[in-house]
Amino acid sequence: MVGFHPPLNPLPSEGWATGEQGARGKGKKARFSDIMERAVCLISGGIDSFVTASLAKRENYEIYALTVDYGQRNKKEILSARKICRFLKVKKHIITKIDLSYVRSALTNRRVKIPEKVKKGEIPSTYVSARNTIFISLALALAETVDADAIYTGVNAIDFSGYPDCRPVYVKRYQKLIDVATKKTAEGKKIVLKAPLLHLSKADIIRKGMSLGLDLSLTWSCYKSGKRPCGKCPSCIIKKNALSSISQKVYVPGQWLKMVRVQGR
Ligand SMILES: [Zn+2]
Repeated sequence: MVGFHPPLNPLPSEGWATGEQGARGKGKKARFSDIMERAVCLISGGIDSFVTASLAKRENYEIYALTVDYGQRNKKEILSARKICRFLKVKKHIITKIDLSYVRSALTNRRVKIPEKVKKGEIPSTYVSARNTIFISLALALAETVDADAIYTGVNAIDFSGYPDCRPVYVKRYQKLIDVATKKTAEGKKIVLKAPLLHLSKADIIRKGMSLGLDLSLTWSCYKSGKRPCGKCPSCIIKKNALSSISQKVYVPGQWLKMVRVQGR
């Protein structure tokens, strides 16, 4: 955790203000944002990253949101990421484009079918090779640039389709890499990789989102870009199972309610 030190390369859109507020010494010019610690939050557009980023906000971090357009078939989640960032009033939302179309995954390649049934213990074809490793490294580059102290990721090891880059051991080892990977961390400062949902079930994540007062209808978790969630892809199935364990009273308007109707509940 750090207090006042300017970013290595302040982003051009950052506003500057003068005065005593935020300055550590008399007569110093300082930005208002210098009184807040910064965090980079990976925002995909789904409920997990929404809840994660709002938890970062509750920790009083100034949020630099990062969304990766990696050539996913489902562009609707990027639209949701924009809505989420507006809802959370993040300091800056960056949508960065990379091309992972060469990766064989149902999420990037139309020739690979999105499965509707997944056997227990099987990793579905929606797995994208090394996706979180790539995303967190992009977040790390942003974190060092804006002098952030934390990176928030919504990875979850309970309802997670068995993806290897969502496990506690993965987060732990990635932290060790971060500790030696950048100028900032090599100089002894810390960038902490935070995964506050790691041990929560999907139902608990939804409950948390509700208790935080988040508009969950802004999110999009379905792997398809239809008008409504398909109700059949691995992501929809996880969400459907979670919803079935939650009382009807907590259903939110919009997408979630529609999905429940589609499911005939
Ligand atoms: Zn779906």
